Amino acid sequence: MKSILAVFLSFISTIILAQSNVPKDYFNNPLDVPLVLSGTFGELRSNHFHSGLDIKTQQRQGLDVVASAKGYVSRINIQHYGYGKALYVQHPNGYTTVYAHLKKFSPAIEAYVKKRQYANETYEIELFPEAGELTVAADELIAFSGNTGGSGGPHLHFEIRDGSQRPMNPKLFGIKINDNRTPIIDGLYAYPLDDDAHVNNSRERQKINLIPLEDGSYIASEIDACGNIGFGVSSVDQQDGAPNRNGVYQIEAELNGDRLLTLPFNRFSFAETRHLNQLIDYEYYSKNRKRIQKLFVENGNPLSLYKDVTNKGELHIQDSLNYNYTIKVSDFSGNERVIRVPIQGMQRSDIPPKKEEKTDYFAQVNQPFAAEANGMDIYIPKGSLYKDTYLDIEFGEDKVKVHNDHTALHKNITIGFDVSTYSAEEKEKLFIARLGYGDRPNYSSTYKKPKRFTTRTRTFGEYTLASDVTPPKIWPTNFNDGQWISNNNTLQVKISDDLSGIKSYRATVNGKFILMEYEYKNNTLTHNFSDDVVNETENQLKIIVTDNVGNSNTYEATFFRKKS
Ligand SMILES: [Zn+2]
Repeated sequence: MKSILAVFLSFISTIILAQSNVPKDYFNNPLDVPLVLSGTFGELRSNHFHSGLDIKTQQRQGLDVVASAKGYVSRINIQHYGYGKALYVQHPNGYTTVYAHLKKFSPAIEAYVKKRQYANETYEIELFPEAGELTVAADELIAFSGNTGGSGGPHLHFEIRDGSQRPMNPKLFGIKINDNRTPIIDGLYAYPLDDDAHVNNSRERQKINLIPLEDGSYIASEIDACGNIGFGVSSVDQQDGAPNRNGVYQIEAELNGDRLLTLPFNRFSFAETRHLNQLIDYEYYSKNRKRIQKLFVENGNPLSLYKDVTNKGELHIQDSLNYNYTIKVSDFSGNERVIRVPIQGMQRSDIPPKKEEKTDYFAQVNQPFAAEANGMDIYIPKGSLYKDTYLDIEFGEDKVKVHNDHTALHKNITIGFDVSTYSAEEKEKLFIARLGYGDRPNYSSTYKKPKRFTTRTRTFGEYTLASDVTPPKIWPTNFNDGQWISNNNTLQVKISDDLSGIKSYRATVNGKFILMEYEYKNNTLTHNFSDDVVNETENQLKIIVTDNVGNSNTYEATFFRKKS
C-alpha cells in the first residue's frame, strides 16, 4: 500500500513539476520581433538534442537582444565554435536564460568583457561575474544578435535552464510561437527485434507504405508480423511564416488503445544528450541523412525523455491475432498527425535469419576491447558502443580501418601509431588524420610521445599518419602595407591552413597586444579600432599564426591613422 502511495505521489509530483510549477508569464520574448523559428527545443541534431529555440533574425545581425526577465549576468562564454559569443542570465526564481551566437554585447557588458580579454590577451574567454556586478532588468538590452560560433546563419539561440542547468522547453513557460501547421510524416518503419521475429516476411527493417486519408491522418498498408517488433517514425514540424523543417514536440504510441510510449520534449540534461544516437536509427541516418526516431527503448538507453513506457514500447505479435497500432505526432500548439497501423499476426518459419557480418573482432558493450598489428593499436573502453558489434578492422601498411562510421560511439576510443622509425624532424610535422571524403586527411587531436602518437576520437573510420610542412597563410583584406586607413573601423586579415588547421594566432601593433576576433566560417581575423588601443599615427602590425603541428607564419605591415 505504502509503495502504491509513493508511486502515486511521485506521479503527481512529476505532473506538477512538468506543468503548474513552471512560471507561465515570467519570461518575455528576448527579441523585439515576432518569434519565427529555425529550430525547436529537442530537435534532433548531430550527436545532441537541440537545447533551446533558434529564433530567426530576419536574415540580419545586430538585432537588439533583451533580458527575458530580471536577473544578473552569471556567465559569459566566448568560443570560436559552439555557442560563439554567449551570455547567461541568472534569474531570482532559480532559472537561467542563455543567449548565443551573439554579434556583441551591450556597451556595459562589452566593456567588462574587453577589459578581461585584453588582460588575458585572448579572444576566447569564459567569465563568471558575481551577483551584483552586471545586473539586468527585464527587457533591458544585453546584446546584439549575430552568427558567431557554430551557427549556420544569423539567428538567436535562446534557452531556459532549470536550477540544475537542464534545458527546458521555453514553450512550457508561455513563450508563444504561431503554429497552425500539422507535423509532416516523412516515413514509417517497422523493426523485427528478436531473432525469430519478422515483419512482412523479412527480419530486417521495413519501410511501411502509408496511405493519406481525407482527414489528414494516415493508414498503413496492413502488416504481417510475428514476435517482438517495434516501430520508428521520421517526422518534422513547420511553424507559421518559415519553411524550416523543425523538430516535433511529442510522439505517442498505442497498441489496441493502450499506451506503449510517450516521447515529449520538455526537459533533458546535457549529460544524456549524446544518447540521441540511441533514440534514432543511427545506421540509417549515417547512410541516408534522415533521422528515424525509434518508438521502442533498447537495453542500455538511459534517456529520461520517455514517459508512460509499457513493455519498452515493443509489440509482441502472436500468430493469427489482429492488432491496431497508433502513432500520434504533435507540435506544441496541439496540431497532431495520426498514423494507424493494422497488424496481422502470422507465424512464418521459412524466412532466412537476419544476416550478420561476423569478423575476428567482436566488441562487447560492457567489456573494453583492444587490437593491434603493424605498429598500430586500437583501444575501445567499455560503454563506448551501444550494442555488441562485430567490428570491421583492417590494419594496413600505414593506415588502419577502424570499423565504419555507420556505428555510433558514445565515448572516445584511442588509436595509436608507433612512430619510432621516423626522425625527430619528421615527427614534428606528423599528425594523426582521419581520412575523409576523397581520402582527404583531417587533423585529429594528436598526443605526441617520442615513440607513439595517439588520438582520441568518437568517430569510427580510417586513420593514418599525415605530414604538414606548410605554414598557415595570412593576407590583408581591407588595407595594404604602407596605407593610410584613418576611415577604417576595423583591421581585417584572412588566415588559412591547408592540412592540420589553425591552432593559434596573436596580433600586436607597435609591440602591444591587439584583440582580433576569429571567425572560422570565413577565415577572418578582425580588430575593432573602437577598442582604442591603436592611437599612434604610424603603426607596425605583426600577426603570428600557428598550425596544429607548429608551423607558423608571421605577417608584418605598416599602416597610418590620423590621431583622433
Ligand atoms: Zn540553437
